[in-house]
Amino acid sequence: EAFNANVAAAADLNAFIVTTPDAALAAADKVDADRAAGKPLGKMAGVPIGMKDLFATRGVQTTAASHILEGFRPEYESTVSQKLWDAGAGMLGKLNLDQFAMGSSNETSHFGNVISPWRRAGGDTAALAPGGSSGGSSAAVAARLCPAATGTDTGGSIRQPAAFTGISGIKPTYGRCSRWGIVAFASSLDQAGPMAHDVTDCAIMLESMAGFDPKDSTSLDLPVPDWSAALNADLRGKKVGIPREYRMDGTDAEILKSWDDGIAWLKDAGAEVVDISLPHTKAALPAYYIVAPAEASSNLARYDGVRYGLRDLPQGANLQEMYAATRAAGFGAEVRRRILLGTYVLSAGFYDAYYTQAMKVRALIARDFAQAFEQCDVILAPTTPTAAFALGENQDDPLAMYLNDVFSVPASLAGLPAMSVPAGLNSQGLPLGLQIIGRALDEQGVLNAGLAIE
Ligand code: GLN
Repeated sequence: EAFNANVAAAADLNAFIVTTPDAALAAADKVDADRAAGKPLGKMAGVPIGMKDLFATRGVQTTAASHILEGFRPEYESTVSQKLWDAGAGMLGKLNLDQFAMGSSNETSHFGNVISPWRRAGGDTAALAPGGSSGGSSAAVAARLCPAATGTDTGGSIRQPAAFTGISGIKPTYGRCSRWGIVAFASSLDQAGPMAHDVTDCAIMLESMAGFDPKDSTSLDLPVPDWSAALNADLRGKKVGIPREYRMDGTDAEILKSWDDGIAWLKDAGAEVVDISLPHTKAALPAYYIVAPAEASSNLARYDGVRYGLRDLPQGANLQEMYAATRAAGFGAEVRRRILLGTYVLSAGFYDAYYTQAMKVRALIARDFAQAFEQCDVILAPTTPTAAFALGENQDDPLAMYLNDVFSVPASLAGLPAMSVPAGLNSQGLPLGLQIIGRALDEQGVLNAGLAIE
């Protein structure tokens, strides 16, 4: 009954593209059988989770929220989802997202936008964005339709939706989670991670998602630490860096206030707070919006009407015309914009001016962080420049939408672990998130600082 009520609530939020209650029940039955047989149970035993519809799931439609993949039922399972099933989790369904994970509001989905379960205080009924691209994941967890969900983060898609909906989410170090079987957006940036109610749940779930996979050439061949067992909110002896370049114009005063609250909480936990500089911060957003579309334009070339899903074959069309018709019908406006941008910055004559330049900026951003981490152990910053905006508010202004990612893309470009944790409500009653960025492979430091804040 509770499950059916939740499915109805899910329909209101449009968080799920498909639900798979039988899969969740089968996983629960398997846990019961294993327990009865005295077999050891996995870390996620019996936990029903939502799966962002960017992860290939065997026999279950996998769309990346696009028309071009509608009806696509992979014959294989992504490494990360398989690891979760092996740990005893069960799949409740596939969660809505921005199309091909491109967006910050979940408004670019072919299956309609997700609605955040939050409303502004004072009777304002305006539907708010759950953030993106993992907006189905954030809404489903925030509305307690599931205790946890997978997300992916290329430039903030775990952290920003977590911040908008008052939940926690961590993007691990690039290479911790296998990208195999996840629909590729920008391969040098894409990382999977957990979205859940608290830091402990994120730590436990990440332990089941991470780990070496020979099928992903950038997968890190390292053991997975027992993060949850080592969680510790005592930050004595730790230094927290506050990057002065993140005090940007256009950042909401209440966000700045919550940042100050976070500084105070970390001091209370025993940390020493130091000023740091990340001088190339301003260049991160423009560099990201060159690198990510460039890689996307290459990755999305495979959707040609031959290999997957949709095929639009106008009468008498030749192969070239079939490609064009399929891609025009199958990709949404934002995806087409990214492909055009990416193709442009990679084209002969423009490559050096845009792509090479952006890659140089990316190296400088990584160097900024490396230098900053000589002075501190973790960095504290806001996750987003504003609280959740209303659906439709930024929809016709891609640049305004991109600006929402200003605080999340630097850690992505540098491949660093970064987490958003809830940091209270603003005067409109909406959640705000704080971001912790750590050294490469120091998820533990990030999680511990997150625990001190929550
Ligand atoms: N909002 C960013 C973009 O649209 C990040 C998306 C993501 O992390 N997948 O590219």
